[in-house]
Amino acid sequence: MNLEIAKNKINTAARVAVLTGAGISAESGIPTFRDAQTGYWARFSPHELASPVAYEKNAELVWQWYAERFITCQTAQPNAAHTALAALEQRTALTVVTQNVDQLHQRAGSQNVLELHGNITTARCEKCSHVQALSPDFVPPPICQKCASRMRPNVVWFGELLPRAILEQAWKTFEQCEVALVIGTSSLVEPAASLGRIAKESGALLIEVNPEVTPLSKYADLRVSSSAIKGLGALLGEYSR
Ligand code: NAD
Ligand code: ZN
Repeated sequence: MNLEIAKNKINTAARVAVLTGAGISAESGIPTFRDAQTGYWARFSPHELASPVAYEKNAELVWQWYAERFITCQTAQPNAAHTALAALEQRTALTVVTQNVDQLHQRAGSQNVLELHGNITTARCEKCSHVQALSPDFVPPPICQKCASRMRPNVVWFGELLPRAILEQAWKTFEQCEVALVIGTSSLVEPAASLGRIAKESGALLIEVNPEVTPLSKYADLRVSSSAIKGLGALLGEYSR
C-alpha cells in the first residue's frame, strides 16, 4: 500500500486507533529505555529500577529515579507528532492507547487517551491506593494525604499486571477500528505486541511508524520507516500542524 492510499483511508475512517510507545516522545527529549541512561543512572538498567523487586530493595533509589524522570517529563513539550494526533481527533473518532507515562498526549490536547502503564505525574498510596498529583517540588517519597502512608509511583512496573478495565477498552478499540496506527513502540512487550495484530485480524488497515523494524512490521499494510514527527507529517499532512 502506498502513502496516498493510507492517507485517504485515515481521512475517511470512522474509527482510528493509535498505539504509542516511548518513541513518539523521543523527539520531545524524553529518552526511551533502549537509549542508554546518562550520568549517575548509566550504571543502572531501567528494567532493574522499574520493578517491584527494586522498590522493595531500595525504595529511595527508585523514587530518586522517578523524581528525575518526573521533572524531565514536566519540562518536556509535546511535539508535532502529539499535536497531529490531537488535531486528527477533532475530526474523527480517535483513541490513543499509550504505554507512555509522560502525559504529553493530554498536554497536546488529546481527550481520548488510555494509559496502559499509568503516569509519572501522580503517586499511589501503598496502603489505601489513594492517588494524588505530585507537586513540582515534592520530596520523595510522597506521603498519602488520606492515611499518611508511603506512596509509590503510579505506574505499572515490569512484572505487574496492567489495569484490567483500561486494557479491555484498549482491546475493544483496536478490534473495532478501521485504521490502526502503531507509533514508536518496539512491539516486544504485551499487549503492545498484540493490539496492532488484533486490529489487522479484525479487518483494519495497519500502519506502523518506526525507524526500526519490529516484530509487528510483517503484519503492517504500510510501514513508515521514519521518526514519529516525520512519519505523521507525511501521513496526516495538514493535520500535523
Ligand atoms: P519501546 O519498547 O516502546 O521502544 C521504543 C521504540 O521507539 C523503538 O522501537 C524505537 O525504534 C522507536 N523510536 C525511537 N525513536 C523514535 C522516533 N523518534 N520516532 C518513532 N519511533 C522511535 O519503549 P522503551 O523505551 O523500551 O520503554 C518501555 C516502557 O517504559 C514504555 O512502554 C513506558 O511504559 C516506559 N517509558 C515511557 C517513556 C515515556 O513516557 N515517554 C519513556 C521511556 C520509557
Ligand atoms: Zn493512603
